[in-house]
Amino acid sequence: MENKKANYSIECSVKNCANHCESANYCSLDKIMVGTHEANPTEKACTDCNSFVDGKNAR
Ligand code: SF4
Repeated sequence: MENKKANYSIECSVKNCANHCESANYCSLDKIMVGTHEANPTEKACTDCNSFVDGKNAR
């Protein structure tokens, strides 16, 4: 498994994501897009990381 470079400006604990740096809780991308799947978001669960890539299929 490749060890990606951590972007210390983007903390993330989603280790299943192909963009996760794996060795620590950071994203490896230079930037991410956060979005929502709700018309009127009211809580954290309404938000999504739209840069997520399924790590199980990508690795
Ligand atoms: S793309 Fe999103 S979900 Fe994936 S590691 Fe980066 S911040 Fe986390």
